[in-house]
Amino acid sequence: MNEHIAEAKRKLPFPALLHRLGLGDRAKKSAPCPLHDDQHNSFSIYKNQKGEWRFNCFAGCGQGDEITFLELLKAISNKQATKLFLDMAGARAQRGGHSICTGCPK
Ligand SMILES: [Zn+2]
Repeated sequence: MNEHIAEAKRKLPFPALLHRLGLGDRAKKSAPCPLHDDQHNSFSIYKNQKGEWRFNCFAGCGQGDEITFLELLKAISNKQATKLFLDMAGARAQRGGHSICTGCPK
């Protein structure tokens, strides 16, 4: 399972995930938080010392990785968020040659 998650994170890093969710304008170090009605730029994504993507909302939504973000954004369980993330990244068993584009402009 952890291998799948690591693979999914390689295929769909945080900025690409935000683009896929229509939140590409939040994929930066300082942006309005998509998790609450933000009047300030409380939201940030960054790479930690291990080179892993993390988000942080300084207003208190929380912090974590791509899966935690999906969990908070969609108000789903961690298990559901993990499944969703793996599906979005296409990291599980390949289906009929679908290739997942992680760098689409839209
Ligand atoms: Zn927030």
